[in-house]
Amino acid sequence: MKYVKIIGTIGPASESSDIIGQLIASGMNVARLNLSHGSHEWHTRVISRVREVATRHSVAVALLLDLQGPRIRVGSMPQDGITLHTDQAVRLVCDHAAAPEDLTETPKMLEVPVGYDALAEDVRPGQRILMDDGLIQLQVECVTGAVVECRVRVGGLLRSHKGMNLPDSTISAPAITDKDQADLQFGLEHDVDYIALSFVRGPDDIRRIKDLIGRSDRRIPVIAKIERPEAIHNLTGIVEEADGVMIARGDLAIEMSPEAVPVLQKQIIREANTQNRLVITATQMLASMVSNPTPTRAEASDVANAVFDGTDAVMLSAETSAGTYPVESVRTMDRIIRAAENEIAASRMDISVPRLHTGMSVPEAMCTATAAASAAVGAKVVVVFTKSGATAVLMSKRRPTVPIIALTLTEQIRRQMALFWGVVPFVASNVSGADERVHVAKKLLKQAGLIATGDRIAILAGSQLGHADMTNALQIHNVN
Ligand code: PGA
Ligand code: MN
Repeated sequence: MKYVKIIGTIGPASESSDIIGQLIASGMNVARLNLSHGSHEWHTRVISRVREVATRHSVAVALLLDLQGPRIRVGSMPQDGITLHTDQAVRLVCDHAAAPEDLTETPKMLEVPVGYDALAEDVRPGQRILMDDGLIQLQVECVTGAVVECRVRVGGLLRSHKGMNLPDSTISAPAITDKDQADLQFGLEHDVDYIALSFVRGPDDIRRIKDLIGRSDRRIPVIAKIERPEAIHNLTGIVEEADGVMIARGDLAIEMSPEAVPVLQKQIIREANTQNRLVITATQMLASMVSNPTPTRAEASDVANAVFDGTDAVMLSAETSAGTYPVESVRTMDRIIRAAENEIAASRMDISVPRLHTGMSVPEAMCTATAAASAAVGAKVVVVFTKSGATAVLMSKRRPTVPIIALTLTEQIRRQMALFWGVVPFVASNVSGADERVHVAKKLLKQAGLIATGDRIAILAGSQLGHADMTNALQIHNVN
């Protein structure tokens, strides 16, 4: 049993049913669809393959639809790209914008097309413009009409459609672009289990996307990707508004700095765990495995430390979507997680389990008590009955020392719970009353081979399934 969950991004290297099956068998709990790439037709095929393979393996696998958000990109460049030399002057022009007449007399200055209309309005002299994962750095010298004149501070070869970051600027682009709206509709039509939004700036962005989801009468959890300086500034409010956050370390390192990331990772995880929200640690966890069959020592350390920091899940991007070793990457991650968790168990490392304190809600207090009681009496598992998954999140955030078996009523909630730390989700029929709960739980756990005669189990439920506020019944049972 591993507790921390694995998210794998599906791409050309992993799109076949065969590889998807191997990723699932190797420990992938969530499949991420990155809407920055691929057509809706392609994603449709992947969705049906993931669902089909998960059903065949009888495991819960959640689908996470990752929306591109207001990502700014370089426009179309010559085939071989253009080399920007350090100290050279360049003009950034909007892809479609005609150069203003008074500027046509400077033909010697290199022009770089940009696919973002409001660039000239958003940047000010002195601010940085970064390209291609921050490898190329420009500084704005002056803005004339729609043209932004820059000095190259760190040069390099620039190719078409590379990402751009404006860490010093306020981006006026809408948080949810036209493309995001179309991609969201696509996700809703395909009943995806999670929606992630890129470049979130504040809690309003989350409210806006929840509003759009709500119009379709669905309730899909939203993950806020933390990768902008404003998001760090507004972290508490974003965590409160969202169902979970992703530490999007790729853009976060570009927009803040690489040395800020390890500290922010700890802060974001702590904030999410305190507010009972999901937290995903993402990007470059096993980056060298894109082309190598084994990880670097630093990468093994990175995955283990995310586990020690208290993350719910760790994510693979290019490693599974475009690399040569997608299955080995998941297997490696799975092994590193298990080794780290064995150490946590053996050394009784404190991973921020909340103690009972005044001001806790009844469900929080019940889950905290259940985690303590299950350890005290040596229970084999904790069983929670949960309709929305809310009690399972609360239980998960108490980091009990044994697996949480979560029983719910629908396949959708079961799939969502695949992302929760330590949770093994199942669908069970609706039950009423304590005796029936014990009966159903024991039968299901025995069938799944999770308990045997002589084991002890803890069962947490409400007197009324579906009312998280009513989570108020803890039972400890011996299995006979
Ligand atoms: P991305 O987000 O892969 O969609 O850019 C993750 C990150 O920035 O780390
Ligand atoms: Mn990103």
